[in-house]
Order: sequence, then C-alpha cells, then structure tokens
Amino acid sequence: MNQDTICAIATANGVGALGIIRLSGGEAVKIAQKTFKGKNLEEVPSHTVHYGYIVDGNSQEAKGKNKDERTKIIEDRPETEDVEQFTIQNESSVTQYPTSSDTEEIIDEVMVSVFRAPKTFTMEDVVEISFHGSPHIAKKILEVLVKHGARLAKAGEFTMRAFMNGRIDLAQAESIADLIASENEASRKVALNQLKGGITSEISILRNDLLNFTSLIELELDFGEEDVEFADRTAMNKLLQNLRHKLGALIESFQYGNALKNGVEVAIIGKPNAGKSTLLNALLKEERAIVSEIAGTTRDTIEEVIHLKGTAFRFVDTAGLRETTDVIEKIGVTKAKEKIASAKVLLYLYDEQDSTPEEVIAFVKEFHREDLKIVLVHNKVDLTNDEIPNEFDSTLNLELFPDYCDELLRISARDQTGIEAVKTVLIDYVENLKDQESNVIITNQRHYDALRKSLQSVLQVEDAVSSGIHTELLAYELRNALEQLGEISGEFTNDEVLGNIFSKFCIGK
Ligand code: GDP
Repeated sequence: MNQDTICAIATANGVGALGIIRLSGGEAVKIAQKTFKGKNLEEVPSHTVHYGYIVDGNSQEAKGKNKDERTKIIEDRPETEDVEQFTIQNESSVTQYPTSSDTEEIIDEVMVSVFRAPKTFTMEDVVEISFHGSPHIAKKILEVLVKHGARLAKAGEFTMRAFMNGRIDLAQAESIADLIASENEASRKVALNQLKGGITSEISILRNDLLNFTSLIELELDFGEEDVEFADRTAMNKLLQNLRHKLGALIESFQYGNALKNGVEVAIIGKPNAGKSTLLNALLKEERAIVSEIAGTTRDTIEEVIHLKGTAFRFVDTAGLRETTDVIEKIGVTKAKEKIASAKVLLYLYDEQDSTPEEVIAFVKEFHREDLKIVLVHNKVDLTNDEIPNEFDSTLNLELFPDYCDELLRISARDQTGIEAVKTVLIDYVENLKDQESNVIITNQRHYDALRKSLQSVLQVEDAVSSGIHTELLAYELRNALEQLGEISGEFTNDEVLGNIFSKFCIGK
C-alpha cells in the first residue's frame, strides 16, 4: 500500500461548468476534512456526497446540525463498481453563504464525495471534490490540499495504485488510457472490451494449463535420479500445439486491432495534377486541401482523417505526396518509399491523358509490399467515353492482377463519381483484417510484442520436448514461456516497464 495521499484534477484542463479534484490514500478523508466546511467527513458513511465549502484556514469541525438527511440513489460510476448504492446526503440546513474571515478564506462552494477503501478505484480511501470549473479555483483547492498534507499526483498514479493494489491488471490499466484517448466507436469498443479483462482472461486460461505442466516437470526434477515422468508428454504436446495456435490467432488480430485503435494510414500517390487533392476533398466533402491547376501548389502539410463505419482513415500529408512524385521523377524511388512505408493502403491515382500503362505498372511493381494494399484509381474518366474496362485498364489488369493488386476503380474526382467505391474499398480492407479466430483483439503494441515472445518460447518448449531435452532445461524453457505470458497482465514485469506505461497517462488518471 502507498502511504502518500495524492491529489489531482480529474477533469479536463480549462474552464467548465464543474471540475473534479480527486484525493486518494490513507489520509484522503482527513485531509479533505481539514479544508471542508460542512459535515464531518470523517464520520459520514462511505459513498456519500456532501454539500459545503472549501476553505483555506483552520480545520473545520463538523457542526453535525443536519437532521433531515435525504438519500437518493444516483447512477453508479464505472470506477466504483460493486458499490451497492451511492447516496447524496443533503445538508439542507446549510442555506446561508458563509463569509471569509481574517483566519479563513472561502475558496468555493462544493460537493464532496467520500468513498472508503476498499470499494474504490484505487482500493484506497478516495475523496472527490466537485467545484465550479475554474482553473484558478482548482489551483487554489489543490494548494490547500497540499498544505494539509496531500501530494500532487504524478501522471497515471491513480491507475497505477489501482493496479498495484490488485483492482485491475496491467492490460486493464492500459485499456483505461486507451478508453480516454478513444476518438471513435471502434477504438472505444476495443478499449472497453480490454477493460473488461478480455485479453487477460484468454491468456490466463492458457497460462494456467502451462503452469500445471511446469509444476509436474519440476516435480520430476525433485525426484532427480529416479526415472519418473509425471507430466504426460503427449498431453503436453497437445497443450503446446493449442497454445501456439491461440497465440498465433491473437498475434494475427493485432493488425485489425491496430486499425481500429489507431486508424489506417492511407497514401494517395500520383503524378502532379493527377487529381490527388480533388480526390481527397471529395472524400472529405470539404474544400480543405488546396486544389490548383499549377503543379506543386499543394504545399500545406495536412493529415486529414475520415471516419468510415467507425474506423479512422488517415491520409498522409499531400505536400509530401507532391514531393514524393518529384522524387520519383528526378532522383529515384528511395525517398518515395520512405513516404509510403507507414501506409497500409495506397491509392495510386493516374489519368490517361498524362500517364502510360507502363508507368503505372513500373510504379506498382516498385512499391509492391506484402502488407500494403495498392488500389489503382483511374481518375478523370469524365474526359473519355471508352467502354469499361478500356485498353489502358485491361493492360494494367493483365500485368498486375492478382499478384500486385486486385482493385481498379474508375472515378471522376471532379464530378465525384466513383467516390463511394473508393470508400467501400477502404472499409473492406479493414473488414478483411477481421478474418481471425480469436474473440479477443490485440490493440496494444506491448501486448503484441509480449505475445510474439511468448510464441517464440512456446516453439522452443515444443522443440525441447520433441528432442527429448534434459528435464532441467525443459523446466527452464517452460518458466520462460510463463514469464512472457505473465508480462501482459503484469504478473511478471519490472519497474521500467511500469514507469513507461503509466507515464503515458494524463495527470489525474
Ligand atoms: P494533384 O496535383 O494530384 O493534387 O491534382 P489536383 O487535385 O490539384 O487536380 C489537378 C487538376 O485536375 C485540377 O484542375 C482539377 O480540377 C483537375 N481534376 C481533378 N480531378 C478531375 C477529374 O476527375 N476530371 C477532370 N476533368 N479534371 C479533374
């Protein structure tokens, strides 16, 4: 248990109707009481809300004059689950505004909630002060709290305590950060699923089975010289196979999870004047990028995002695209490759007036990559009245399908025809990633890395079993695999990893 009582603003920076300051720790109620003019918080029941004032001055003793205590059940909060009821106790007798005196300054009129351990987010005593949402008031309240013994919380410290005190595991703690950062439906849903413990429960089942085998193997070691086998090697092989399979599925799901959480990076590439800005604008349905007939005028650095079916698609900056095409023409493809390196989908835009099929083919072959979906987008079809597909398209089709790409769209960015098809291709790209067995989706790079390491060690154990390795070494490999699996939930982890995870949280979380 941490001894310090910490405090921080829990609400967003800036002005709001209300703000909340949260205190957590063994002294939370005592410190709050020293600043509070109202009921004696040290005597009130847990999970109750109290009206009063925050004052800067001598400690306030409770008047205890409120006899008429109204109790009202209000909505439970996610961070206080398991709480049977949450009550508001109204100090109806506090009707007159007290005034500041020489020894005591009234800072704000507030509602103070008292939550006693262990049924709180941190599993410590927690006090929440709702004040009028001015940053200045927040600062003054924090100053008074610190004066009475609280310490300003570090980034993520409340959540870290929730983890340290066993209320949530590490994967769940990380999902809270994800939930706060979620910008769309998809990322909210995956974060919430992880907060419910999705990934941890999936892994702990596998881990427990492995743990059982490890115990049996270690028992064999205890018997040393005697040639006994407690762990059934056939059953163990089966378990390892199962583990490999499940870990593989989880690892596979990362691509999809990452797309949901962070969005999909899309690059629109094409020669100058191919219509890249026009297409981007058509997708955005807003004239945000600069569209010009003079090649090279799209110089703004832009990252535009569109949300399709709850997933974010991020379009890399158009200024970069312009440079990219310059580079392709003048220097070579190295620089262009860097630009396209992080993209998952590449919309290659061309028009018949200004390109040849050979150019397009050369480009696609050059930029083809296993994890990059290249979509050919034939623009300015309004300028020709060819049958579909025309000779230009047929040549591309013949040369490039299906090894290099499998999608050719005919659009007029200017007239906004075919734009829906572009959107459909993007949506389908994400839908196809979903094609995996695991119910749980990995969205976190750290989990992904830990899973890959786990898989690696499971493969080593498999090797060890099949080569009839010495029991001692087998036990070592098994321990290793267990540790890797335990890293995700935080059972095996070190301070550096923890510090790194929690430092990414905002203060007050
Ligand atoms: P970028 O350099 O690739 O970004 O190209 P722009 O989007 O700036 O477009 C260059 C020129 O082509 C502009 O005059 C556009 O109006 C024009 N353009 C773009 N798309 C189409 C189209 O589908 N049809 C026709 N006829 N012109 C287009």
